[in-house]
Amino acid sequence: MKYTGPTYRPPYEANSLLLQVTVGCTHNKCKFCTMYKDTKFSIESLEQIEKDLEESSTLYGDVKRVFLVNGDAFVLSAKRLKPIAKLIIQYFPNVEVITMYASINNIKSKTDQELKELCDLRINDLWIGTETGHEETLEYMNKGFSLKDSYEQLERLNKTGIRHIDILIFGGAGRGKGIDNAIANAKLINASKPLGVSITTMGAFGDSQLAADVEKGIFVPATELEVLEEQKKMIELIEVETIYLGIHGINTVTFDAQLPKDKGKAIKLVDDTIAKMNDEFLNSVPERHSI
Ligand code: SF4
Repeated sequence: MKYTGPTYRPPYEANSLLLQVTVGCTHNKCKFCTMYKDTKFSIESLEQIEKDLEESSTLYGDVKRVFLVNGDAFVLSAKRLKPIAKLIIQYFPNVEVITMYASINNIKSKTDQELKELCDLRINDLWIGTETGHEETLEYMNKGFSLKDSYEQLERLNKTGIRHIDILIFGGAGRGKGIDNAIANAKLINASKPLGVSITTMGAFGDSQLAADVEKGIFVPATELEVLEEQKKMIELIEVETIYLGIHGINTVTFDAQLPKDKGKAIKLVDDTIAKMNDEFLNSVPERHSI
């Protein structure tokens, strides 16, 4: 299998076949992200993709789920994605889900007809870098799309049958704005009705723009207590059925939950964690090293 440069996948795709279709990320400008900082974006050839599928079909049995790497693989046009999906189905006829990371802008660049065709070719699930429902925070993060775009494009996915898992960042709004972020995030989730919500926590890593802003005092990170209060508030306000996916190692309290059914249990878990921590830790900003 060919993998060029760093390869990232959600923790939940640990058992999926990782198939490289792109290298790096086209945007590469999000303030907090260093994942592909030194990686030049490129597109893998269809010939190489077929070679990898041929090899993986001899190595693995009945693959049900394929994760296309890398950072924003859904940037590929429908014209490029369709033959890739057809090849996957040719080598793994029982594949149920072909998924990948996607930016809101990657949805915007496709027509409804194209999204439906991709869904029919089993590209029926996407991990979306929504990050926040808080307008000011989204703008600061430099994601390259507006909050209005998030609402509109997630709705288009729902209409065309593509399920989505919306990625959100606790602490993303910075000091004193955790509750605002929680309210805005819950509003976005209640409107966009994702299959799941994938949670990470803001960290100012190494040579990210965010770390430079923290150094200059432009961004003041949330304290641990604020992050945990934000977590509780968002869970409390989610009304739609969705899976809370929170096992990422960067989070303080790691758990999965079915919302809104497990709301009480989830909030209690966060409360119990707060009760076990001392004030010094709760009022600090713990160092988080990598996404
Ligand atoms: S967060 Fe995603 S879209 Fe933003 S630079 Fe990193 S990989 Fe690219």
